[in-house]
Amino acid sequence: MRVMHELLKQNPEIWNLFTRKEEYSPEKLDEHDRFFSDDSDLKRALEPAVSRYLVEHGLEVEFPENKTFAVCLTHDVDDIYPPLSHSLLSSVHCLKNLNFEGSVSQLLWKLRGKEHSPYLNLSEIMDLEASYGAKSSFYFIAAEADPIRFRYNLEDIGHSIGEVSDRGWESGLHGGYYSYDNSAAIKSEKKRLEAVLGKKVKGFRNHYLRFKTPDSWEILANSGFKYDSTFGYSKSVGFRNGMCHPFRPYNLKEGREIEILEIPLVIMDVALFANSKSFEEAWEYTKNLIDTTARLNGVITLLWHNFVFGCSFRNDWVKLYEKTLQYCSERGAWITSGEEIYRWWEDRS
Ligand SMILES: [Zn+2]
Repeated sequence: MRVMHELLKQNPEIWNLFTRKEEYSPEKLDEHDRFFSDDSDLKRALEPAVSRYLVEHGLEVEFPENKTFAVCLTHDVDDIYPPLSHSLLSSVHCLKNLNFEGSVSQLLWKLRGKEHSPYLNLSEIMDLEASYGAKSSFYFIAAEADPIRFRYNLEDIGHSIGEVSDRGWESGLHGGYYSYDNSAAIKSEKKRLEAVLGKKVKGFRNHYLRFKTPDSWEILANSGFKYDSTFGYSKSVGFRNGMCHPFRPYNLKEGREIEILEIPLVIMDVALFANSKSFEEAWEYTKNLIDTTARLNGVITLLWHNFVFGCSFRNDWVKLYEKTLQYCSERGAWITSGEEIYRWWEDRS
């Protein structure tokens, strides 16, 4: 990696973009204290300028079985039980489509027992991915505190988390909203997940994508995480530091690289659809980002929340996910979890 950093340093503009120098002293933060990106920054992010520079200067990337690019599939497990607002929306959506049975079951699932929650759907998500020869990562919440509502007790879904491991998918930590800048809190959440999982946790993404450059990387490395996948946009899509490849971050304050791998997030479901006027436009965005990544033999990371697959008012989002899996598998992508990407990347470095 040192070679890569040396190469990037030779071009100051590229180096500043790669390290996100401007995020060290942000002029403006958004309502969740995240770096505020303006429109020109977001437009710039559709082009992975740093990865392109690296490829033009000799970076060669290989993937297993001669695949030419990779797709990292991830799910933030924000909810296991639908909040009332979701149940109502789903129910109304079913009614509009004359699906009376669906409408009733979205409202009354609780009567049949908690284990019948429509958002306890990890098996179905894995089945769908398996049908494309794909795997993914699930990031679970282990924090008690949350700005909106109590989410779930990890210990209550041990069976589901066990199934994720048994099938070879990954369980990582979805760091609490209030924990992103708190090393002790993150460590204790990691421990709690490890107790349920029965093994070490490698991967991380923070709730609401809260992240502070470069402190969050330092905290995560210090807490024993092997990779992070928080570094992306919460209100748009694209390559936050111009990279469509995993990378070792660099701490400009300390003048050294940080002992963690970043697998940058490129497309989050909520952000994608918030920026698209129609399904077709959302697909155009997605396809362009995939094609761009494929041309540079990169890795594109997707985030689809698990609730999307269990409610009826987000059918379009599921449709787009399936279309993406179909397209990427036809293009011969390696479609897998963050953990597998991490392992492959570390082995070949
Ligand atoms: Zn979240």
